Amino acid sequence: MQHRWIANLTTNQPSKAKLLYTWASPSNALKQPGVLPISIDSTVLNPEPVLIPFEVSPLPTGPWLVFAPHADDETYGMGGSLLRARAEGVETHLIVLTDGALGGDKENLVEIRQREVGEAARLMGIASLQCWPEADRGLEHSEGLDVRIAAAIKEIGPATVFFPGPLELHPDHRAAAFAVWSALQRLYQAGERPQAIAYEIGVQNPVNLLLDVTAQKDQKEEVMAIYASQNSENNYQELVLALDKGRTFSLPPAVKFAEGFYLFNEADLALSLREVTHKIIDLYQ
Ligand SMILES: [Zn+2]
Repeated sequence: MQHRWIANLTTNQPSKAKLLYTWASPSNALKQPGVLPISIDSTVLNPEPVLIPFEVSPLPTGPWLVFAPHADDETYGMGGSLLRARAEGVETHLIVLTDGALGGDKENLVEIRQREVGEAARLMGIASLQCWPEADRGLEHSEGLDVRIAAAIKEIGPATVFFPGPLELHPDHRAAAFAVWSALQRLYQAGERPQAIAYEIGVQNPVNLLLDVTAQKDQKEEVMAIYASQNSENNYQELVLALDKGRTFSLPPAVKFAEGFYLFNEADLALSLREVTHKIIDLYQ
């Protein structure tokens, strides 16, 4: 085992944990995105800084292309970051994959949700919006979808592509993650290599990048309020703010709200998303 943390003292206070461990490798692996080069040794448990950042990151390079399984996921999951992108002049694009037909009992729900996402995109300064007609709760990781996603990425030409985290609960969210991952693998083989970043929507996923959205909290609430058709189905706004608050657990007190992401590295794209996810989970042994 070439790389390992040396524990000098144990603590139950994650905020102090980084002071108590020494990284034995000369390289500063915590600065590197993607799966850390840590061997699995059942006698040494990885400390918190291996599993979660203790500082926030700058915005990833633009332009961004965000894939949302449903109209609202982009806002609930990373609306604060999209608002920051607007404020910092980063160009953003959004593709909503499903028609959202099962998100309630209202008539004309597909049209209502398209109107809502159009308004949300306008407020967040998103440069282009596409609403694809894939079936709600029927998103499948088919080769045809991979090809269409790859073509869209190629056409828009983003520096960074966002997709849902692989441990999301809703099957459409996971199907979207696998489909975008496969599309990125196609593009990587062809020499086109945008950054791949997973974002959290309904639950906490593995993260190695936290973005401070404290200053965007009020605006994010305003954008979330646009999704009246979905907010009447559940208390999404409260849940999302709770998740964003939860993501400050390892951060300095000045950060009141944060959104969590996983930035994959190029080597990860040689593996299946399932394999990469299991490598990440192995860090928790
Ligand atoms: Zn969704």
